[in-house]
Amino acid sequence: MTILEADEHYIWHPYTQHKTAAPPIAIARGEGALLWDTDGNQYIDAIASWWVNPFGHSNKFIADAIYKQLTTLEHVLFGGFTHEPAVNVALALKKILPANQQKFFFSDNGSTAVEVAIKVALQSFYNKGEKRPTIVAFENAFHGDTFAAMAASGISFYTQAFEGMFIDVVRIPVPVTGYEQVSYDALKNVLQNQQVAAFIFEPLVQGAAGMVMYEADALDQLMRLCKQNRVLTIADEVMTGFGKTGRNFACDYLGEQPDMMCLSKALTGGTIPMAITTFTQELFDGFYSDDINKALFHGHTFTANPTGCAAAIASIELLLTDEMQRNIERISRRHKQFESEMKAHPKVASTRTLGVIFALDVASSENETYYGNMRTKMYNYFIANGVIMRPVGNIIYILPPYIMTDRQLDAVYQVIRDVLEIV
Ligand SMILES: *Cc1c(COP(=O)(O)O)cnc(C)c1O
Repeated sequence: MTILEADEHYIWHPYTQHKTAAPPIAIARGEGALLWDTDGNQYIDAIASWWVNPFGHSNKFIADAIYKQLTTLEHVLFGGFTHEPAVNVALALKKILPANQQKFFFSDNGSTAVEVAIKVALQSFYNKGEKRPTIVAFENAFHGDTFAAMAASGISFYTQAFEGMFIDVVRIPVPVTGYEQVSYDALKNVLQNQQVAAFIFEPLVQGAAGMVMYEADALDQLMRLCKQNRVLTIADEVMTGFGKTGRNFACDYLGEQPDMMCLSKALTGGTIPMAITTFTQELFDGFYSDDINKALFHGHTFTANPTGCAAAIASIELLLTDEMQRNIERISRRHKQFESEMKAHPKVASTRTLGVIFALDVASSENETYYGNMRTKMYNYFIANGVIMRPVGNIIYILPPYIMTDRQLDAVYQVIRDVLEIV
């Protein structure tokens, strides 16, 4: 059996309708921003493999750190035990996170990071004997595919089969330009009428919605309203974290600081699945008690896996190098130039960019659905031309690894120009 035959027989892929989907591409190797399939075709990875890989594929510095850790201590249980790599991840994050983030809880992926944050929010009120069962989230949010994370997500085909089985979530409009007041009033209304525990949001950029962007000022106002009502704020930085927005975290653009943050994706440079939920001291103190029932009874078998921790420490070190910071600035600058060109393009309805993230909406008379025809046509064109991008409906976005060269970036911009000629 070939790889593709075996795959077709045995493998169930994510977000895939197997009856109608094209066969997957078997990737054999990666280096920097490039990937090669088993036939030797080359692809530019313009979305950092679902936003996880800022430093390039098969990164030697991270690989060496992983190897060293694997041959020293590959794993140990984290209940009743600890280890230097976990402590060092906490210390490294402490230096770059908003100053109020003091406690670090490890898990395995973005969804579990969100799951932990929501459970902590709900239990922190329970521990005080206060009943607050409701979570507020944005429309078209994406917070993951496990149950509480899915409940907080508002992209319908991810969640429609499970409607009616969720925890209580109220959705408010995103404060994109022109809708700041609508969003603010909606939140105010919910806080007045419901017992809200927490407000969860993707700060400044909603990734899965198609890189929808809104201003820090608007979010600051919503967060202030939450603080006035003793409602906890959860910044889901699973996508935006570690430099994507041009600063280490999207929260670095805010005046307010969130009560909790969710980190994953680029945390380990796209090598080993790991996530961290971070908390204020005050939240931690709400679980600190002589009463065992007030503890957080949540954990995963591979919590704080030392190998993942070693990858995270190496990744944070790489992120903070002058070279990587210059790369982020270079890509941000180039995106801005490309944006001014695309703004004037007759087939482009709108554009936006922040840090290494660039997105445009292709003008369309029809309401393009998430996995609709235009999306498929553009996706196939990009792949046929050796560039991996996954349009969302009529939205094309780029989120390159920071180490992508100017020539590779030029090639990505060019296939976008070209695809606009055929849609
Ligand atoms: C990807 C993503 C998640 C879910 O992460 P997984 O690792 O896929 O479970 C949660 N929140 C945001 C903002 C994301 O982009």
